[in-house]
Amino acid sequence: SSISVAVAPMLTKLQQDCATPLPVLRNVADSMSADIRAGLAVDGGSDLKMILSYVDRLPTGNENGLFYALDLGGTNFRVLRVQLGGKDERVIATESEQVSIPQELMSATSEELFDFIASVLANFAQKGGNFHLPPGRKGEIGFTFSFPVKQTSIDSGILIKWTKGFSVSGTAGKDVVACLNEAMDRKGIDMRVSALVNDTVATLAGARYWDDDVMVAVILGTGTNACYVERMDAIPKLQGDFPPSGRTIVNLEWGAYRKGLPLTVFDRDMDAASINPGEQIFEKTISGMYLGEIARRALLYMAEEGSLFGTSVPEKLSMPFVLGTPDLSAMQQDTTDDLQTVGSVLYDVAGVESTLNSRKIVLEVCDTIVKRAGRLAGAGIVGILQKIEEDTKGVIFGKRTVVAMDGGLYERYSQYRRYLKESVAELLGPETSKNIVIEHSKDGSGIGAALLAATNSNLI
Ligand code: ADP
Repeated sequence: SSISVAVAPMLTKLQQDCATPLPVLRNVADSMSADIRAGLAVDGGSDLKMILSYVDRLPTGNENGLFYALDLGGTNFRVLRVQLGGKDERVIATESEQVSIPQELMSATSEELFDFIASVLANFAQKGGNFHLPPGRKGEIGFTFSFPVKQTSIDSGILIKWTKGFSVSGTAGKDVVACLNEAMDRKGIDMRVSALVNDTVATLAGARYWDDDVMVAVILGTGTNACYVERMDAIPKLQGDFPPSGRTIVNLEWGAYRKGLPLTVFDRDMDAASINPGEQIFEKTISGMYLGEIARRALLYMAEEGSLFGTSVPEKLSMPFVLGTPDLSAMQQDTTDDLQTVGSVLYDVAGVESTLNSRKIVLEVCDTIVKRAGRLAGAGIVGILQKIEEDTKGVIFGKRTVVAMDGGLYERYSQYRRYLKESVAELLGPETSKNIVIEHSKDGSGIGAALLAATNSNLI
């Protein structure tokens, strides 16, 4: 079966609608900077919430002792401990355990969920091994909690609502740190939460421990977010006393960004069908949850209106989210002459029988979607760097500055990484881009939370 002549103009139109030439990237970077500024001025002043983390002591490398981290952000729950030995010895030992949250607890009561977390922690803490807590010292915990909370201090935060499939009753409106502390009391565990942080903030802290030049952290996984180190006197909405030299981490919640993004009919339809229409537009354009689905919608259209896969339209291709971002990545790694991997991925996930020509079109569609995503993510990063640079001439662009990256999408999709880096280099120019290091910080968030427990310990 031959591809109808209608497919070629459809591909061209998709490529035009997704195009990210330099002026588009520059506009996104500039608008991101302006939105950052507006969100720092006043709550509700921007699409970006610019949430204060209350982390104003960053890891230095001098941290010493035994600290714990808990990470609750999805269906998996992680506990970790780290023995820190100060500047010379650094990380002496780490140990971690991952447990999946039983389905029934995701819709249980708050007490039941936190009792479960506390008992996993108690069990983990008992298997002491080579880890030492001085007699009489409480175990201190950095708690990475990736649900929307309203924080008012480093060690407290009110849950606004559960997301990601959790419907636990009785937590919303309560301080999640108090919930955990109470559960630990019930279980007789002598530990306390010293720092409550989100995963982006923990990633920044984890990377900063090894490298003082880390200023920004970005997560590109199922969803996306970013945070950076800001001067307190550059945050008008920050009330109260702070040292003139004070700095803090600000969480952008950048998934909500929306200005100047080149969008297609497939993006608009996917958004309209989503559980949060009109929201998280940047996230829907650049993060792992959505790239496969955008491509599926484009391919379905080409199959229906342009006979991309012959006269019949494969039924499975009509199912939302059958094509995952890892599938796009697997197809793009195909180096065989007849694009065997593309063929088998299409057949396995969507029941599609394809010819070499249609496989080539599929690859073009994947590349178009991932190129737009990677380049826009890069423009967002430049927007953050640009904002800091505008306030402090030369401090960012005139010396080495590190952006710490984490998340499965960034880690496992080489084309995405390449497009992101190209976009940053195009925007900054050859001289400045020599100073900007975009670096993968693998699993920095676990140790980062433990480090924040250490820097925010008031027991030392
Ligand atoms: P999460 O963001 O869910 O906490 P990760 O950071 O591990 O967890 O990111 C997982 C996401 O990364 C997946 O939802 C998927 O979109 C993306 N991903 C995973 N593997 C790959 C891959 N091989 N190629 C491209 N994207 C991938």
